[in-house]
Amino acid sequence: MPPERRSIVRTGIGYDSHRFAPGIPLILGGVRIPFENGLLGHSDADAVAHALTDAILGAACEGDIGSIFPNTDPANKNRNSMEMLRIVVERVESKGFVVANTDIVVVAETPAIGPHRAAMRDNIARTLHVPTGAVSIKGKTNEGMGWIGNGEGIACIAIASLAQRTG
Ligand code: MG
Repeated sequence: MPPERRSIVRTGIGYDSHRFAPGIPLILGGVRIPFENGLLGHSDADAVAHALTDAILGAACEGDIGSIFPNTDPANKNRNSMEMLRIVVERVESKGFVVANTDIVVVAETPAIGPHRAAMRDNIARTLHVPTGAVSIKGKTNEGMGWIGNGEGIACIAIASLAQRTG
């Protein structure tokens, strides 16, 4: 296959989950969401940013968030995860990719994601250097089943596509 016919769009998937704990802020997609619980983690535990970061790294075959920002590094303690996402976007851009779009599913029994969707999309679009129309976020409950249904935590799944810059 000639080089110009090779795939110029690459897709990656990312998954993340964090456990709820009282008395800490809940931050998803860089948005602070008023809620009785936040998410426990070494960084700010922004599961949306983490899943999306892994999706972008996966599309570029550049490893994963844990290899780039190890949780054994004190510099990553309470770190702003949107800042980590920004660094990863710059990294894949330096390899000749641009983000094309992302689609994100947040699975949480509560809180509702809908009221915060617009702010999350704006934040993420700015960080990815894409229009807001290239950032989709969907909230789902787990229908009361299992650890998510019990309100123990949140899971997030993200897919991202990158285009290879041609000029
Ligand atoms: Mg995480």
